[in-house]
Amino acid sequence: MLIVMEKGVSDREIQAVVERIERLGYKANPIPGAQRVAIGVTGNQTPLDPEEFESLPGVKEAIRVTRPYKLVSREMKAEDTVVPVGGREVGGRTLAIIAGPCAVESEEQTLAIGEMVAKAGANFFRGGAYKPRTSPYSFQGLGEPGLKILAKVREATGLPIVTEAMDGEAVSMVEEYADVIQIGARNMQNFSLLKRVGKSRLPVFLKRGISATMEELLMSAEYVASEGNYRIMLCERGVRTFADHARNTLDLSVVPAVKHLSHLPILVDPSHGTGRRDRVTPLARAAIAVGADGIMVEVHNQPERALSDGPQALFPEQFAALVQEIRALAPLVARTL
Ligand code: PEP
Ligand code: MN
Repeated sequence: MLIVMEKGVSDREIQAVVERIERLGYKANPIPGAQRVAIGVTGNQTPLDPEEFESLPGVKEAIRVTRPYKLVSREMKAEDTVVPVGGREVGGRTLAIIAGPCAVESEEQTLAIGEMVAKAGANFFRGGAYKPRTSPYSFQGLGEPGLKILAKVREATGLPIVTEAMDGEAVSMVEEYADVIQIGARNMQNFSLLKRVGKSRLPVFLKRGISATMEELLMSAEYVASEGNYRIMLCERGVRTFADHARNTLDLSVVPAVKHLSHLPILVDPSHGTGRRDRVTPLARAAIAVGADGIMVEVHNQPERALSDGPQALFPEQFAALVQEIRALAPLVARTL
């Protein structure tokens, strides 16, 4: 249930509503960014009676939230959420272009790619220090030394760093060195990890699981929000289907569907979404055209020598051309870059 307060209510009146919610055994969640003060109620197993709250002083109305996800739904908050990240924003007018290698392999490689993507117009840098790999014998990432390299890239380029954490321990490390915690597709339903990042001061980049429905993605975001962290960016990165012409099937139709139901920003990753370099640029354009708040793409200066995902990494010059194309496209969808 969403409790909307009258304009100009006193702190005492707000506090009285919070106390009533808590006395009933539920959780009161202040909804940030709303024009009026609004409080979301969660934790009730059965529908609540609006009158229970509408009789309290200062309450304008109490609205039932019908979706299973509450805090991330548009019913709870009508306006788009803009996530502040290291002095920049995701979900506002400016498109987010997150670029970098699949994995941090060495300082030299990562810094070189960082300089190239920054010059080409990326506004965030990505790179994995902890890599979720199908085989335990594949390169697993450099761990903390990799995070230190990422911090150097930020220092050199000014770009905020997006990097994955696969467990609670890695979250603490990422908090020390980076700007955004990425939750990978394989961990989208790792609920204890979601709760952990829900307590973080850093924004969360939540990737859709390879067989997750949109509702499951939004429920995972709800886990994060329910712990108090509303700085969530969703990401479509392709799902597994019978199609065998690409690594995954990039489900671009989920973008308007999510935007209809949720106030959270959603980005698209055409690199993992297609798995092939020659498909990345066309699908990145399509992502912007369909209304995504940005893209995440893998870029490598020597893809043939990459320790992971070389075949889907753009060459730096291809990335630079893609940024130019997105710059031209942006005004058509009322965006800037
Ligand atoms: C990644 O972005 O590095 C990654 C591993 O992606 P995903 O979790 O979508 O497979
Ligand atoms: Mn990758």
